[in-house]
Amino acid sequence: MSKFWSPLVNDLVPYVPGEQPKMANLVKLNTNENPFGPSPRVIEAIQAELNDNLRLYPDPEGEALRQTIADYHNVQPEQVFLGNGSDEVLAHIFYALFQHGEPILFPDVTYSFYPVYCGLYNIEGRKVPLTDSFEINPEDYRQPNGGVIFPNPNAPTGRYLPLEQVEAIIRANPDRVVVVDEAYVDFGGESAITLVDKYPNLLVSQTLSKARSLAGLRVGLAVGHKDLIEALNRVKNSFNSYPLDRLALAGAKAAYEDDAWFRKCCDGVISERERVTEALESMGFEVLPSKANFVFARHKEQSGEALAKGLRAQGIIVRHFDKPRISDFLRITIGTAEQNDALIKGLQSL
Ligand SMILES: *Cc1c(COP(=O)(O)O)cnc(C)c1O
Repeated sequence: MSKFWSPLVNDLVPYVPGEQPKMANLVKLNTNENPFGPSPRVIEAIQAELNDNLRLYPDPEGEALRQTIADYHNVQPEQVFLGNGSDEVLAHIFYALFQHGEPILFPDVTYSFYPVYCGLYNIEGRKVPLTDSFEINPEDYRQPNGGVIFPNPNAPTGRYLPLEQVEAIIRANPDRVVVVDEAYVDFGGESAITLVDKYPNLLVSQTLSKARSLAGLRVGLAVGHKDLIEALNRVKNSFNSYPLDRLALAGAKAAYEDDAWFRKCCDGVISERERVTEALESMGFEVLPSKANFVFARHKEQSGEALAKGLRAQGIIVRHFDKPRISDFLRITIGTAEQNDALIKGLQSL
């Protein structure tokens, strides 16, 4: 605390990202990064941008990338918004679309950045409990609100809500924006982007950090009705006109152009996810059904905290949340086959 701070800063409770440890040789399964590297075409595209042009500002509208993404998802470029990671996109969404004087709704167990944005923008958030089996019940989102946001698949549970049920939430809230955060949708889910032309209140956010192996490049996006995108552009252009640099714009475009690589990485994660799930179940874990690149699991006897500590002592890092309802769970990112073997062996020894 300091007399120089704006008063709001005293009360901010910032997001705490998963640890990025500096030690070598760790089996790092704590932040849902992709175990496979980005497409070689992404690296080439970025290398081609490493030249004198770096003295020039990038395209503030990211037009070429927006066109590529629009073509990929069969929408218009005016329906695509870009940001420096989807976290920045989400921040603009909260500011531009969620300030209506009524609480916004999100699940009680969900991405912990949502309450942080609420704190930053002074928006009231109302936590809607997941069912006992950690599922979103669309009926619970029929109540007055200033907007709705949930990840699909949800994080950190990994549970996926079928598209008909997503649609039920959108239809129940025609006068508010419903945001579907699809950070993990490519690992077995179906995107709600196919619904954006049907529902002017639907906004879908995605990221290149997970399925496209580019967490280090910081590219996220939102797709929705052009009026929603216009609101985001107004906020963005009142904040930072150039959120994506030249390297990010080029690399992201190349990532969409190498669909075969993307699908191969997703398939690799999905098949390892099934293998890890079976191994955990055979060791006495309850594993929630996951359509993400991680599993959320608790052991019948051992506490989440003890397991996380025991793994850490062996150089294996997973995420443990010391929070109500989920303190006995571990969120384990699906790694390479070798990393997953190390995880399984590590747990067997505990
Ligand atoms: C990882 C994640 C994001 C943020 O991704 P960026 O790296 O900022 O693009 C957003 N939402 C959820 C649910 C996530 O897990």
